[in-house]
Amino acid sequence: MNRGLLIVFSGPSGVGKGTVLKQLMADKELNLAYSVSMTTRLPRKGEVDGVNYFFVSEERFKEAIYNDELLEHACFVDHYYGTPKAYVEKMRNDGYNVVLEIETVGAKQIMNAYKYDNGCISIFLTPPDMKELEARIRKRSSETDDVIEKRVLKATQELRETYRYDYVICNDNVEDAVKKIRQIIMGKMLER
Ligand code: 5GP
Repeated sequence: MNRGLLIVFSGPSGVGKGTVLKQLMADKELNLAYSVSMTTRLPRKGEVDGVNYFFVSEERFKEAIYNDELLEHACFVDHYYGTPKAYVEKMRNDGYNVVLEIETVGAKQIMNAYKYDNGCISIFLTPPDMKELEARIRKRSSETDDVIEKRVLKATQELRETYRYDYVICNDNVEDAVKKIRQIIMGKMLER
C-alpha cells in the first residue's frame, strides 16, 4: 500500500475553507483524514474539543513544543496553533491522505520539512473579492472588534503568500473549487 499524501490546505479567515473541506471529506474516494490541531484559543459556539480542535492551555501547548509532539506550529492573532505529529504519521502510514488546514507560517514549515517528499502538496484557497471576504470576517459575531480587525489584516498578509503554494484555487463557486481540488488530489494519487 502507498503511503498517503500530506495535503497542506490554507486560505484566509472567512474564505470558506470549512465548507469546501466538508464536501471533500465526504468524498470517500479521496480517502482523506483530517488532522485535528491543537490550539490555545477558546472554543467558538458549537465547536467540540477533539473534533474541531484540541483546546489546550498555553502551558500544555508549550509542553507539546518542548516534547517535539508537533509537526509545525504558529501564532495566529494572539493564539498558538499546531499540528500533532503522531496522528499525521500514523494515518499516512495507513494509506490515508492527511489534510492539514493551517495558516501560512506553519504551511511554510511543512513545505520546507517535506520538500523532498513527493507526497506533499499545498493548496491555497483565495477569495474572489477582498471586500466580500472582509464582510464575512466581520459577520463572525463570536469575535471582538479587535480580533476581527486583526483577522482582516492577517487575511491581506496571507494573500501575499500564495506564490509558495503548488496550487491556488479561487473560491468563486464552492462546487467548482471542490471539483478542482478533487482533480488535484486524484491526479496526485494516480501518479504514485
Ligand atoms: P481559527 O481560529 O479561525 O479556527 O483558525 C485560525 C487560523 O489558524 C486558520 O487559518 C487555520 O487554518 C489556522 N490553523 C488551524 N490549525 C492550525 C495548525 O495546527 N497550525 C497552523 N499553523 N495553523 C492552524
